[in-house]
Amino acid sequence: MSDDYIRSVPTDPGWQPEPEAAAAAVAYVASLFSGPGDAVDEVKQTFYDRVTLIDAGMYTERITCPLCAEDISMDWLDDLVRENGMSLDQLDVAVPCCGAVVELNTLHHEDPIGFARFEVSALNATRVEIRT
Ligand SMILES: [Zn+2]
Repeated sequence: MSDDYIRSVPTDPGWQPEPEAAAAAVAYVASLFSGPGDAVDEVKQTFYDRVTLIDAGMYTERITCPLCAEDISMDWLDDLVRENGMSLDQLDVAVPCCGAVVELNTLHHEDPIGFARFEVSALNATRVEIRT
């Protein structure tokens, strides 16, 4: 069985919390999976020095342009991120479809990805479906 991560990132890609706030975020995420029948293997925080692609792993499949709605190839994004060593200091890029300059985190992804300097991840988290 493969591991399944839920990855949470701030809405501001460059923002990082203070250590106490990061610990509170970890505790909050852990609390979401602490009910009867819930489970989570691990909840942890990660700080990144630079803005980093937080991808959906093997679930990252299709990207479309927010302006012209054309498909953008995954290879284009992979190359862009790889050229920058998995980190990006600025998110404004010219997209290959229509040449417009857009923020990378406004591209439409079939499965969500993000760009961040901080994340809280939950490994193999499950919740009982019905709550009263
Ligand atoms: Zn476009």
